[in-house]
Amino acid sequence: MPDLAATWTEKLLDVTSAFSRARTAHEVGAVAVALGVEALGASTSVLALRSRDGAHLELIASAGLAEEERQQFARLSLEVRHPGTDALREGRPIFLETQAETSARYGQAEEAKPSSPHREGSCIAVPILSGDRAIGFLGFGFRAFVPLPGAQRSFALALAAQGTQALERARLLDAEQQARRRLKVLVDAAEAFSAPSLSMAAVLDAIARKVTAAAGDASVLRLLTPDGAWLEPKAWWANDPAARRELGRAVAGERESTLSGLAAGHLRAGEALLIPAVDEQVLARVSEPLRGWMVRHGLHTLIMVPLQLKGRCIGMLSVGRLQPHEPYTDEDRMLVEGLAARGAAAIEKTRLYEEVVRSQRLFEGIAEASPDVLYLYDLRRRRNVFVSQSVEQVLGRSPRDIGALSEGFMTLVHPEDLARLVQEQRRFSAVADGDMLEHQYRMRHADGSYRWVRSRDRIFSRTPTGEVELVLGVVRDVSEQVRAAQEREELLAREQQARREAETASRAKDEFLAMLGHELRNPLSPMITALDLMRLRGGDAFGRERTIIERQVQHLVRLVDDLLDISRITRGKVELKRRALELGDAVSAAIEMASPLLETRRHRLEVEVPRRGLVVEGDPDRLAQVVANLLTNAAKYTEPGGVVSVRAAREGGEAVVRVRDSGMGIPPDLLPHVFDLFVQGHRALDRSQGGLGLGLAIVRSMVEMHGGRVSADSSGSGRGSEFVVRLPAARVTSLTPALPPRPPVAPLGLVRARRVLVVDDNQDAADALVEALSTQGHLATVAYDGPSGLEAAARARPEVAFLDIGLPVMDGYELARRLREVLGSGVKLVALTGYGQDRDRALSRAAGFDEHLVKPVELDQIMAVVSALGRAAIEASGAASP
Ligand code: ADP
Repeated sequence: MPDLAATWTEKLLDVTSAFSRARTAHEVGAVAVALGVEALGASTSVLALRSRDGAHLELIASAGLAEEERQQFARLSLEVRHPGTDALREGRPIFLETQAETSARYGQAEEAKPSSPHREGSCIAVPILSGDRAIGFLGFGFRAFVPLPGAQRSFALALAAQGTQALERARLLDAEQQARRRLKVLVDAAEAFSAPSLSMAAVLDAIARKVTAAAGDASVLRLLTPDGAWLEPKAWWANDPAARRELGRAVAGERESTLSGLAAGHLRAGEALLIPAVDEQVLARVSEPLRGWMVRHGLHTLIMVPLQLKGRCIGMLSVGRLQPHEPYTDEDRMLVEGLAARGAAAIEKTRLYEEVVRSQRLFEGIAEASPDVLYLYDLRRRRNVFVSQSVEQVLGRSPRDIGALSEGFMTLVHPEDLARLVQEQRRFSAVADGDMLEHQYRMRHADGSYRWVRSRDRIFSRTPTGEVELVLGVVRDVSEQVRAAQEREELLAREQQARREAETASRAKDEFLAMLGHELRNPLSPMITALDLMRLRGGDAFGRERTIIERQVQHLVRLVDDLLDISRITRGKVELKRRALELGDAVSAAIEMASPLLETRRHRLEVEVPRRGLVVEGDPDRLAQVVANLLTNAAKYTEPGGVVSVRAAREGGEAVVRVRDSGMGIPPDLLPHVFDLFVQGHRALDRSQGGLGLGLAIVRSMVEMHGGRVSADSSGSGRGSEFVVRLPAARVTSLTPALPPRPPVAPLGLVRARRVLVVDDNQDAADALVEALSTQGHLATVAYDGPSGLEAAARARPEVAFLDIGLPVMDGYELARRLREVLGSGVKLVALTGYGQDRDRALSRAAGFDEHLVKPVELDQIMAVVSALGRAAIEASGAASP
């Protein structure tokens, strides 16, 4: 039947060309069913394919079916027995031509459902294969049982085969289109997320909307809390406005634990979770009210994807579909993952952007609020890139003015400071990025004056080659500080100068006092000697006058002694000769010293001092001087016929001496100052009470040098005064007196005549001494300077020579050395000097002196030296006593 064959071949060609035009599965299906029905003369046709999840068959195209029938085919279970499902299951075509065949396969008809095979007519069902797998079927129904000849069968098979190919092509095409669509969605998304002006909230919102639009019906975006414990909803979207409103309420305040939430495990692993079908189990892990929302709105499939940045999770994106949409597939998951990746990048970018904006605002805020000028300086181009507003206050110029300066700040630096500043800036090439460089220099204000500023600079940026590019700095106006510091320095310098001058003046005064003391002492020595002589020579002539002179000379000696003491004290040159002593002895010595005045003024003296048992460590002479000064004052400042008392006792660890008088007392305003140097109370114009205002100053210094204290008290004018000296008492309570017996002085007339030389430039002193010696029977020679002294010595060959130290032309030391050369050891050399310190004694010893006598020298001392010479000579000669 060539014709018949040709007809079928033609029909097949039509099919082929029709299929080639079909682009989707539905178009392929429509071609297949339409051409099949027409070519085969069938009344109905169905093309059904397995659903994506493979659980049932879905109707792709049909012909000749009533609406109700189409509904039944829309989702056909694979379990239903039907030629189509059978063909699919068995993987081969099924042709049913007769009632018998049909009944044999499916039993008796009960119901004439379209999906039921018991329809009154033949039927063809051909499986559609993809590779070896049957993915659907193409079926045809006939109105009656008619024979299905071979050509018809072959055509049906060929149609199915071509349909399969066309489907495959459509599927590929579809996949490609979908991929393209996905790509477009992703590109669009990336663009939408990164609009430059978007705030973080807007970005999150855009992500939720975009994901919903691209892949579902509703979505929720959650971000991880900083502690990483929770996922908090930040944005959500649902296509349906009502559902959206409700979703907003459902997620408000909701948060999901990263440990136990639905996607917790996947989140940790950084993987997406795809739930094709949301079932009870899934719902059980969602908390209310979100669960209620899911149930109410029929959310049946879900994808949850972690939002990740460089492997770190920052949140989660969930998207779901509502009934009756398709369950999610891996392709959907991949799309959502793509969106999530772009979303995460957009979130991070926005976060960084917001951070930059925030720190820029912070910087601007600081720069504006600070009185200091903040700036960025381009070191290479020597320009200010940024200068804060406060430059107006400091330099009187706007930031714009500064920016316009050709060298920036540098133009305004004082010419004297510029070279140093540039030099210092060179150090930038050597410093590390964090290091701070400080400079202080002057800058010109707009008003022409210069301001001192201090700048602190650090490197802000470098070029790619590591060269310093920008320097960030702060400039502070320190003019006030600099001025204050300069003033301070000037003041300090002035004060130091004044102090130096005062010290010099004070030293000059001290030296003057010392010199004055010595100069006064010199004339005193011959006067004392002369008085001694007068006394020795006896005779009552001028007895009264002599006594007056003696008393006045004694007074002068005391004044000079005080003067010398105080000058020593102020120069720190007092040396105490400390030893354990009975305070009673010091007090007796003091009473002896003060008694002439006490007697003269007819005071009654009361003494309550233990002779023994009150021991202190101290210098006996100095302690006697302390008490004597107090007694003298008591005598002086008490009207004649008064009462003066001295008491001593141990009080606790102290030996206490109290000197009281019944005199004029001390006014309260004077009391705190009586121990100060040169302080004196008001006195009569004639200065009958005498004194230099030194006595109590000496008392206080001496007592303090002994580790003690002294205080004065007076109940007021005319009510007497009391002075209390407190000294640390020694542990020992008594001393056995072991004073060496004084060497017996040879009685007058029994001395052996000696050859004596006296050299002193104070002629009166020298002459008086020579006379005194002569009176004693000695052969005395005098000279008034060193050279004549040497001459005289050569002539007279003295056995003993008294030499003043402060001689003109040749001093006493030199003279002593020469005499020693000329006379050898046969002469005894005695120094007469106003200086009695250890150092002075050492000096005279070194010059060859045998003895050192301190002026004013009593005649007794001179005579003792001369007679000791005799004894030494007798002892040396081994002769019997004279
Ligand atoms: P001077 O006696 O040489 O003036 P002092 O230093 O010894 O110096 O004494 C200082 C002053 O303290 C005296 O001028 C006197 O006014 C007052 N003063 C000292 N002792 C007594 C005293 N016992 N009674 C009253 N006034 C005294």
